[in-house]
Amino acid sequence: MLIVLKRDHTQAELQTIIEEIERQGYRPHVSQGEETTLVGAIGRGPTPELMEHFRALPGVAEVIPISKPYKLASLEVSPRPTVLRFPTGATGGGEVLIAAGPCGVESREQILSGARIVQRHGAQMLRGGAFKPRTSPYSYQGMGAEGLELLKEAREQSGLPFVTEVLSPDQVDLVASYADMLQIGARNAQNFPLLLAAGESGKPVLLKRGMSMTLEEFLMSAEYILSTGNRQVILVERGIRTFERATRFTLDVAAVPVLKSWTHLPVWIDPSHPAGRREWVSALALAGLAAGADGLIVEVHPEPEQALSDAAQQLNEAEFAQLMERIRSLLPALGRRLSQPSEALHG
Ligand code: PEP
Ligand code: MN
Repeated sequence: MLIVLKRDHTQAELQTIIEEIERQGYRPHVSQGEETTLVGAIGRGPTPELMEHFRALPGVAEVIPISKPYKLASLEVSPRPTVLRFPTGATGGGEVLIAAGPCGVESREQILSGARIVQRHGAQMLRGGAFKPRTSPYSYQGMGAEGLELLKEAREQSGLPFVTEVLSPDQVDLVASYADMLQIGARNAQNFPLLLAAGESGKPVLLKRGMSMTLEEFLMSAEYILSTGNRQVILVERGIRTFERATRFTLDVAAVPVLKSWTHLPVWIDPSHPAGRREWVSALALAGLAAGADGLIVEVHPEPEQALSDAAQQLNEAEFAQLMERIRSLLPALGRRLSQPSEALHG
């Protein structure tokens, strides 16, 4: 339930309300707006008697049930957009951030060269999987811990923070000791122990939508991460399974406005995995931004033809440069622009 405080409530009244929420077995979540203070009581659905009990406390204006099954992810509980800040830029609340890089880390030369390309054309974050979740056990599985070392070196050289995937709860400590953001992939989007472990790491988490997940289920997965007290979650629409076979997955562009009407969390688009072919990636990226996405995660490789995974969908340098140009032209028409480092640090 959501407890709306009176405008003239005192700090002592707020404190009493928080203590009472805890005493009743709920978790308090305070959202301090400019005009109103909201306190979410997160837990099982309240009885009418319990709501009446809270209504009677001093300082309380209104008690309303939270209508959605997700609570901490909901716009009802946190009406202001969540903004994630990195040294090179921010995402959310109008700030647009682009993460780009190869599908997987393949060699020192490949990731350092990939990072240079990404940085040269103005993306603010590097991507690259050290541990790859592959449908076939015989496909390229990534470089593992060695890949993390190379990503670290790429960060030192390029100045770009990096996001990389974590496949299992027992990998979280290792990956979190290197990465600026943990990626949880589509195939792991309902791996609840992994969601909790990633949340507990305290690192920002980039959560991909499962390929057959409803948007409500997607937010319930985000809720697992948020329930650990970690507020830094990015939601990524990366294509869902439909009857269509022309593309690898069907990009659900509508997920962007729908999610943004339900949640305060930043919403990104991954245009690479749904396209499946490099020639369609830019169109999907621009469609996602036009629909309101707060960022993109795009696959870019110095030599896509040589890539050990997802070769057909990775952009080369010229294609990525053109996409970044188009993004720079499009964003002002939408009243937005690429986030800058200074805004990230001081905004
Ligand atoms: C990836 O980003 O390379 C990846 C495996 O993505 P997804 O989990 O969305 O398939
Ligand atoms: Mn990939």
